Amino acid sequence: MSRREELAGNLAAVRQRIADACAAAGRDGDSVTLVAVTKTWPADDVRTLAGLGVTDVGENRDQEAAAKHAACADLALRWHFVGQLQRNKCRSVARYADVVHSVDRLSLVAALSAAAVAAGRMLTVLVQVDLADDPGPGRGGARPEEVAALAAAVSDAPALSVGGVMAVAPLEADPDRAFARLAEVAAALRARHPGAEMVSAGMSGDLEAAVRHGATHVRLGTALLGRRSAPVG
Ligand SMILES: *Cc1c(COP(=O)(O)O)cnc(C)c1O
Repeated sequence: MSRREELAGNLAAVRQRIADACAAAGRDGDSVTLVAVTKTWPADDVRTLAGLGVTDVGENRDQEAAAKHAACADLALRWHFVGQLQRNKCRSVARYADVVHSVDRLSLVAALSAAAVAAGRMLTVLVQVDLADDPGPGRGGARPEEVAALAAAVSDAPALSVGGVMAVAPLEADPDRAFARLAEVAAALRARHPGAEMVSAGMSGDLEAAVRHGATHVRLGTALLGRRSAPVG
């Protein structure tokens, strides 16, 4: 089986999972966007997926993402940066990302905004929310009570717009409980920022729970591209 056939089969299977999850939740099938998380996989795979109709790709490391974006510059894809972001990477990320899913502190808002202005681009920003019960260091994500202030700063920034929220279900947590909490945070955000309709939630293992709780964007790596050889981010 060629890589193209393998990816086509995987894509059909995940599209079916998304359709089934939407049907079970009483949602329109086209209310959920598939973001193909292509980290660790070559630009050729991005090209193949684009040929199969994928419109959105996600990456979590700046160097790899920048190179892949350059290699796929002829394709009309929307690029999502989903990894932990450092201030010194903002300048680069702002050149190719359309949506940044991982803004979780105020210092990043200023850095990303300055970088977007310098690049002459508008970026859609999601506030990443930490859904763990106990606040822990190094996980990524703002506490739910910090989301409003972050969104206000994004909204005030000249080259950024508030797109919504993103989360990763905490390890060993019940994904339904985590994503229900995210849905509350998303609703509170939309009350202040009516355009902030994106809810980026759900990965290969828990997309059904995410769709049940209103995910608009599911980020799928393994189910689409296969098992990564080395664990990343
Ligand atoms: C790698 C990654 C994904 C995809 O995870 P899979 O379990 O392989 O589908 C989604 N979101 C983020 C933030 C990631 O880093």
